[in-house]
Amino acid sequence: MTTIESIETLLVDLPTIRPHRLSVATMHGQTLMLVRVRCSDGIVGLGEGTTIAGTAYGAESPEGMKLVVDRYIAPALTGADPRRVRAAMAHVGKLVKGNHFAKCAVETALLDAQGKRAGLPLSELLGGRVRDALPVAWTLASGDTGRDIEEAERMLDVRRHKVFKLKIGRRAPAEDVAHVAAIKRALGDRAAVRVDVNMAWSESQALRALPALADAGCELAEQPVASLLAMQRLARRFPIALMADESLTGPESAFEAARRGAADVFAVKIEQSGGLFAAREVAAIADAAGIELYGGTMLEGAVGSIASAHVFATFPNLQWGTELFGPLLLTEEILAEPLRYADFQLAVPAAPGLGIVLDEDRVQAFRRDRDRIAVPAGTAQKED
Ligand SMILES: [Mg+2]
Repeated sequence: MTTIESIETLLVDLPTIRPHRLSVATMHGQTLMLVRVRCSDGIVGLGEGTTIAGTAYGAESPEGMKLVVDRYIAPALTGADPRRVRAAMAHVGKLVKGNHFAKCAVETALLDAQGKRAGLPLSELLGGRVRDALPVAWTLASGDTGRDIEEAERMLDVRRHKVFKLKIGRRAPAEDVAHVAAIKRALGDRAAVRVDVNMAWSESQALRALPALADAGCELAEQPVASLLAMQRLARRFPIALMADESLTGPESAFEAARRGAADVFAVKIEQSGGLFAAREVAAIADAAGIELYGGTMLEGAVGSIASAHVFATFPNLQWGTELFGPLLLTEEILAEPLRYADFQLAVPAAPGLGIVLDEDRVQAFRRDRDRIAVPAGTAQKED
């Protein structure tokens, strides 16, 4: 019988190419929590958990995920059959409540191993892809209008992105609307402009700002308010699509949002949904309710982004494309062969499993405990 021999975790700290300003925080780097599942048949599966700005976006953190995997999930799965991925995750579900991001990282590693075992890319293992490449939006979040326009122009020039999502909600709504309008004016019909407010507005602020955004040519507003009831009241009032993101924390919340008609579009995220299977359930609920789909990101690195890509590649409908640009926000490459972004799209790998290989030297160079493991046992060690 094939068994899981060990599950290892690792924190990897990587700088971002520029400060990334959201309504909740400014990011200068990203921490990846990498998971490796080693199986008795010699196959090693890889997974990743990441959050946006530590605990500023949600309840989990990379450090917390590592703890949960090390202390609770790894002991529960050691000795289990890695080929029975759903049974393994159901067992984890009994012992670990919540912790969607940590579970997603482990499920990704199990599915990567299963794909390698079956000789199939993850998307084929999940029923088959309907597309080999995914449109990828870029997020403009420097905080400066002029700099954002320059950045967008560069992306258009190199044909990497032609859909731009503007992170707003830090400033007064009127200032934000002026910022969005200036960018849309500069880019014109060459690019689509959308905004993500990350729940920063009250409903009355949203009532004033949404029609102004629509007038400015902005085609979509993502999670302007926190409350699902407020989202429901705002939906379809203005000629601008309303997208739910933070409201969607798995299939149950997706069902509730769909039942209430609280969004035109769902941003599906594998981590926020609670795993790859759960993300597919969120998408199925959207399809059944006539809600359109978008492939979201938690600013995952290469591993989490490509796991998301395999899932999104299987969605029959993906009307609003994706935002799987996370690896491009980081200064350091940790893959032996970088992901392929070209012609405004990300190519979904065709090799078995996730279809990617880590550059181990690069990973070791950026692991948080590199100083600790570099010194002989018993000598003074640097704290994290
Ligand atoms: Mg969002």
